[in-house]
Amino acid sequence: MCGDCGCSSAETITLEERVMARNDALAMANRDLLAARRVRAINLMSSPGSGKTTLLERTVRDARRPIAVIEGDQRTPLDAERIRRAGAPAVQINTGAGCHLDAAMTRRAIQDLDLVRDSLLFIENVGNLICPALFDLGEEASVVIVSVTEGADKPLKYPHMFQAADLVVINKVDLLPYVDFDLGACRAHIATVNPAATIMAVSATRGDGLPQWYDWLY
Ligand code: MG
Ligand code: ZN
Repeated sequence: MCGDCGCSSAETITLEERVMARNDALAMANRDLLAARRVRAINLMSSPGSGKTTLLERTVRDARRPIAVIEGDQRTPLDAERIRRAGAPAVQINTGAGCHLDAAMTRRAIQDLDLVRDSLLFIENVGNLICPALFDLGEEASVVIVSVTEGADKPLKYPHMFQAADLVVINKVDLLPYVDFDLGACRAHIATVNPAATIMAVSATRGDGLPQWYDWLY
């Protein structure tokens, strides 16, 4: 599954199954806790550098409901500081060598945040298109962000991640004139691996597509 457990012996598979079963049970408990407070939790996943934090900063500045953010990174409190400067409470989780968030980490962060009723909770996962797709955090919806500075074939290369998405955001469309990125091909690849996913093209910096993003969120 991920870097710390890449071996495939029978013994390891059993351990992986136990890890996943425990995670799924904790995720269900998170989901109940969030539902009791009518908090809508969204798991944001992408490669590093796709613009997750920038999209969140903009979303916080334009907020129509209270927003709180859980920031996952291997190191540094930098992204949580950006979110706080934009005006929302944020908790940083540093995973160290870990390459994904799990339900237990998410639970601790939820307890630290003291969530407001009827709010939105964004969980910005560690930048990685592989194992975050395997770990349910208790979210209501999963969003995968891909930017036009990446390859348009990412959905074909990382199908599990794109299959897990309710929404795929293609970000940084303001850069399309300067990069070799086939937007139509990317949309087609997403539809191939996940015909049910909503797809939208946005620029978190210039504002393209943000009305659609807010319609989807609220
Ligand atoms: Mg970030
Ligand atoms: Zn991992």
